[in-house]
Amino acid sequence: MQSSYNGINVPVDGQRIDYIAGAYQVPDQPIIPYIEGDGAGRDIWKNARAVFDAAVEKAYDGKRRVQWYEILAGEKAYRLHNDWLPQDSVQACIDFRVSIKGPLTTPIGGGIRSLNVTLRQTMDLYQCVRPVKHYPGVPSPMKNADDVDVVIFRENTEDIYAGIEFKEGSADVKKLRDFVNNELLGNTKKKLRDDAGLGIKPISVHGSKRLVRAAIQYAIDNGRRVMTIVHKGNIQKFTEGAFLEWGYEVAKGEFRDKIVTERESWIFAALDKDASLTPEALAKVVEPGIDYAPKTFGDKVIAEVKDVLAAIGETHGNGKWKSLLLVNDRICDAMFQDLLLKPKEYDVLATTNLNGDYLSDAAAAQVGGLGIAPGSNIGDGYAVFEATHGTAPRLADQDVVNPGSVILSGVMLLQLIGWNEAADLIEQAMTKTIEQKVVTVDFAKEMDGAIQVGTSAFAARIVENL
Ligand code: NAD
Repeated sequence: MQSSYNGINVPVDGQRIDYIAGAYQVPDQPIIPYIEGDGAGRDIWKNARAVFDAAVEKAYDGKRRVQWYEILAGEKAYRLHNDWLPQDSVQACIDFRVSIKGPLTTPIGGGIRSLNVTLRQTMDLYQCVRPVKHYPGVPSPMKNADDVDVVIFRENTEDIYAGIEFKEGSADVKKLRDFVNNELLGNTKKKLRDDAGLGIKPISVHGSKRLVRAAIQYAIDNGRRVMTIVHKGNIQKFTEGAFLEWGYEVAKGEFRDKIVTERESWIFAALDKDASLTPEALAKVVEPGIDYAPKTFGDKVIAEVKDVLAAIGETHGNGKWKSLLLVNDRICDAMFQDLLLKPKEYDVLATTNLNGDYLSDAAAAQVGGLGIAPGSNIGDGYAVFEATHGTAPRLADQDVVNPGSVILSGVMLLQLIGWNEAADLIEQAMTKTIEQKVVTVDFAKEMDGAIQVGTSAFAARIVENL
């Protein structure tokens, strides 16, 4: 362990957070690195930090305290060290395991190593976790925004984000096209066009299972009722469809006594009403169109019912299934509709990278947008929390932006290290502040009777409300 990073000494009063046998070991004064961020990040960080410190002080009477430790990235790092992303900063995030960052400028012209990508790869941060919840009073396009309360687990390392793409017209794309057309599609009518660019979408057993596992564990640990696997398996059978299949394998294979699948729940619900139902009758409950399907399909469903009853009839039947986590699945396009039309039915969502990218921004918009949406990238023993918005350059250094996204990211951080009392205090105080209609400009312009305040006054009111 270094005694300084980027020439800044590590706080002497703090200790490192450790991770042993799958659990964080958190000292009373953990050293937590932060990247203030560029642009509006400068306004936000100092105010968000004041909220965190006041909440921790209040929750633990001074017995606990975060030793914040500044690490440099973005414009500040470039100004001081002529480097947009010093290796020391990456190393500090690794060494101290849990960190938080504000938004960073992406320099136009490219060629700059992205902090997010670098950290994601070096620490294998495979879960992008975004809670999406409405705080009463926050302007929203929804009629019943308060019904939205979901946590989205987006796979963070695979899918089309793996960056395996070949440009139209290149020698590589020709090689790949010829291979696919001649070797793989030779006997079919399918053909890749000569003028197509090509991309590869890898979805692995390993990547899918660990993401779904994390989502189920989160749902269980946090008393959530439903965990939904979101996929596009009806079209992309061996990637999205496989994600779905492997997701259920994890659910049934590793959490059998804690979960019931939706199909199983239909069987048990029907039996709870009428215990005399035969497997044939129950098969019709699971697949109402069974009489019109080929016999082989019907037989398969009857066999499925029999298997369910033999395997978990005792443990899950007679209403016992009702207290377990319900695991179901939805096709991604239907999920977008459901989140708008019946959000109450959803709780925790686990999905592949691209679906999750779209879904989390769309869901955030349902509850007030990016100014308030927190985010995190999580691996086994490592976590980086971050605002989901950018640097809002035109609003920077004017004390006007909404610090909500970073404050709620900090709430997630406190929850991860088990400081739930402080996390709850902040969430309650922020809810109260918005209920009092004391808000920053982004909310004020859409709220009747709002008292518009700056970043610092908004944070100060949260501290008052703690
Ligand atoms: P942006 O999120 O900065 O701004 C989009 C809109 O939202 C703007 O109107 C802005 O004023 C408003 N806004 C954003 N945050 C706000 C807040 N906290 N309070 C009130 N209003 C807020 O996105 P952009 O304009 O596309 O990008 C600006 C810069 O940020 C770019 O350099 C971009 O690369 C960078 N960026 C960084 C991250 C990151 O580091 N995670 C994410 C997105 C964009």
